Amino acid sequence: MNNKRSIKAEGAHKILLGVIVVSLCLIVYSLWQSVASSNISPLSQSHPKISQDYRYLIDDSSKYVSADLLHQLDSFVHSKPEEIPYDLSGKTYWVLLNLTNAEQSDLSIVLHVDNAMLAEQAYYLLSNDNQTLKPIETEQSVLSRTFPQVVFKLSRESQVSVLLKLRAGGPSNIPLIAYEQSQFSKKVLFTLAFYGTFVGIMLVMALYNLVLFTAIKDKVYLFYVGYLLSTFVVIGSVTGFGYLIFPDNIQHILNRYSLFFHYTLVLFLLLFSLFFLRYDKTRGRLYWLGICFAGLLIALSLISQILSHEYQAKLFFSLQPFLIAITLAIVLLRLKRSYGWARFYFLSWIPLLLGATIQPLVLLNQLDYSFLTRNAFMFAVLIEIIFMALALAERMKRFEIERLREISYHPGTHMPRKVLIEKAIAELVVTKNKRFSVLVIEPEQIERVVLYVTDFKNTELFKRIYDRLTPLFAYNDAIVTLGDNGEKISFLNGNRLAIIVDHQYSQQSLNVLISSVQQLVQEAYQLDDLKIPLSALIGVSTYPEHGDSGIKLLSRAQLALTNAEFTHHKWSEFEPESEDLSAYNLALASDLKQAVEQNKLKLYHQPQIDLKTMNVCGSEVLLRWEHPEQGFIPPDVFIPIAEDMGIINRLTHWVLNQAISQQQELIEHGYNHMISINISGKDVLADDFYNFVVELIERSELPASKIALELTESATISNSSVAVSVIGKLSELGITISIDDFGTGYSSMAYISELPFRELKIDRQFVENVCDDNKRKIIAETTVKMAKGLGLEVVAEGVNSPLDENTLRDFGSDIGQGFYYAKPMPIEDYIQWLGQEVNGRVAHFKSVQVENSAVEGEFIPKVI
Ligand code: C2E
Ligand code: CA
Ligand code: CA
Repeated sequence: MNNKRSIKAEGAHKILLGVIVVSLCLIVYSLWQSVASSNISPLSQSHPKISQDYRYLIDDSSKYVSADLLHQLDSFVHSKPEEIPYDLSGKTYWVLLNLTNAEQSDLSIVLHVDNAMLAEQAYYLLSNDNQTLKPIETEQSVLSRTFPQVVFKLSRESQVSVLLKLRAGGPSNIPLIAYEQSQFSKKVLFTLAFYGTFVGIMLVMALYNLVLFTAIKDKVYLFYVGYLLSTFVVIGSVTGFGYLIFPDNIQHILNRYSLFFHYTLVLFLLLFSLFFLRYDKTRGRLYWLGICFAGLLIALSLISQILSHEYQAKLFFSLQPFLIAITLAIVLLRLKRSYGWARFYFLSWIPLLLGATIQPLVLLNQLDYSFLTRNAFMFAVLIEIIFMALALAERMKRFEIERLREISYHPGTHMPRKVLIEKAIAELVVTKNKRFSVLVIEPEQIERVVLYVTDFKNTELFKRIYDRLTPLFAYNDAIVTLGDNGEKISFLNGNRLAIIVDHQYSQQSLNVLISSVQQLVQEAYQLDDLKIPLSALIGVSTYPEHGDSGIKLLSRAQLALTNAEFTHHKWSEFEPESEDLSAYNLALASDLKQAVEQNKLKLYHQPQIDLKTMNVCGSEVLLRWEHPEQGFIPPDVFIPIAEDMGIINRLTHWVLNQAISQQQELIEHGYNHMISINISGKDVLADDFYNFVVELIERSELPASKIALELTESATISNSSVAVSVIGKLSELGITISIDDFGTGYSSMAYISELPFRELKIDRQFVENVCDDNKRKIIAETTVKMAKGLGLEVVAEGVNSPLDENTLRDFGSDIGQGFYYAKPMPIEDYIQWLGQEVNGRVAHFKSVQVENSAVEGEFIPKVI
């Protein structure tokens, strides 16, 4: 539906644009028409009874003065005015115009000398007897500079002879057209309107592009402004409208350097083409050729200033074919489909090339003069500017689309990013009365998989899942479209995919949809040739219950995802309580950090008993936290939070410091046994962990052999080369590394055999009341045997009764730990406990008194 709406809107835009372009073209066209075909007629048409006779004489070296001509009247050559052979060599042309009026009315005649860059002009009336010449006063107005002219009376049934002295300063052609005064005034008026339009459009465009440049800083706009201004100056000189804008002396200078501005014009046009068509991005051969040519143009524009006007002009116009060839190559090479957006730019070249070819031919007297041909370049530029404005707009649009694409799609895979799904959610929320769900999909165990593969492989894997799911959703109206090309799945950061299900169109229940997604993910989950049979976890949040924005719905679906793992069908819906929980966790983490900084935590000791001698051979230190408001919080709760919130390292540093100083305290009291300290996998991965432990041991002067570090097995550790090497180095120091909670995590034999563990702690779930359940008993027995077989020392945790103790001892456990002996207790209590007969079981326990015997009863059955 959205698509249809945007297609309609696009269509409407195109029509509107078309209408505007057509109207603009019509305005330019009608202006042209009104000037060209308005009933402004030269004298030959308005007064056919007035005969005109032109004769000319060329003064090659410009040596004659007017009086000399009186003797040479016979050498004048008859010619039509448009056939006088003007050329670039700067000669003086004498033209004798003879008008005979056979009409019955007196007329005022204007002879329009249509070249605004004359170096010299003078007009004389020739007396009837051809004996005297009388200069005709010309008006010295701005208008007469733009429209050079001579005015004289032509009485009824009489004749007038006018002698003109003309020398071109710029273009060589000097068209001569006689008008009746009122017709000429009309022509001036029309032409001024035309010039006014041109000047207006040029200036507005230049200003607009300058503003665009300051905003966007794209050089292409600056080149375009340069091009517009050069064109403005060139055309201002050639047509003479420059006199209407600039003071005379400035326009004289602009006229003198007119060819210089021709150079800048083509220079800017060349640069514009290169940058507009993005040659600067690839910098291929053509780009450098263009840049070299641009350099050449700059050099020539300066050098040619020392040449005469004739050679300057010849040089410039002979460069023209090269320039056209280069620019055409630049343009034509981009006439590919991928440059469809530049079509207006390509079109703009047609009028420009026509204008740029026609006008010089007229100015150099190679082509017939008419208002159209005379102003061909100006017309061309006008049409070109319209196309160019459209082209620049399209280019900007193109950039915008590309930028949007960049933020909306993943490069390479083109999977829609999060912004697109957020946008789609926002659109759905606007159309009220809808119920829809956001589904976040995560392949189960992806965290483990990413440890083995490169980012590239990982993205490839997601692309495969994406491709797998796409056909499933293609014809399902319930799955909301996110991208312009009908994409329906978004790839979120953190290795998750997301879709939106619109319940209004949903044919199947969410249950069914989810299980088909899970099925497909499972099938697509293949890395190289290795198939990992893993399913998808899915988290769901629903509008309006769970939020009314993309951010909320997505984060809540992701929160639900964390629970999905623990559900039977591997998907779960958002529950408000879980969010409360995460807010709770955050607050707790901050309290915990404070508690560490303020030394508010305590370490408790739980004794470990040598099952052969029944001596205390060590103690495990366990954290205790009394929260000021919430009371006692068990470490099972706050340790995972500390790990998630990134404060575990600091916490462990505190525990290590504390444990070592309590160990010293125990020694002072005469008890020298092992101390077991719990550390987290994240500690081993931290940069400074090893150094921290080394420094601590050196400072305390305790033997490393009295320290055990308990580490719960995890994939993160065995897959990290850093962790493996740290564990190796710690072990070399003499520290005992112990596998904690064995039997609960990702137990793997490889893990145990590859890492230098010395001790294994069999989890209490297999020890506590071990004889109640045969299965657990078998597991306990096998585990102990296996560990012993590998040469490890085995600790049985959670010994609760003499039966547990005996059973585990029979299996081969070396050490027991559990409530049967003692619960964890503060150091003071522990010291007291060590010195006491506890609960009548004194017979069993003999604490190690260093004074009595340094070794006796101390359990050091190290198997190396
Ligand atoms: P854990 O390493 O397995 O520690 C042994 C846990 O078993 C302790 O719970 C202890 O009180 C409990 N326990 C000992 N004997 C028995 C018994 O006979 N029956 C039963 N039911 N439980 C027994 P606690 O102190 O609540 O600690 C829980 C977990 O918190 C520890 O499990 C350990 O993983 C973690 N933890 C505690 N202190 C630290 C610490 O300083 N650093 C780190 N990283 N983790 C710690
Ligand atoms: Ca432990
Ligand atoms: Ca344990």
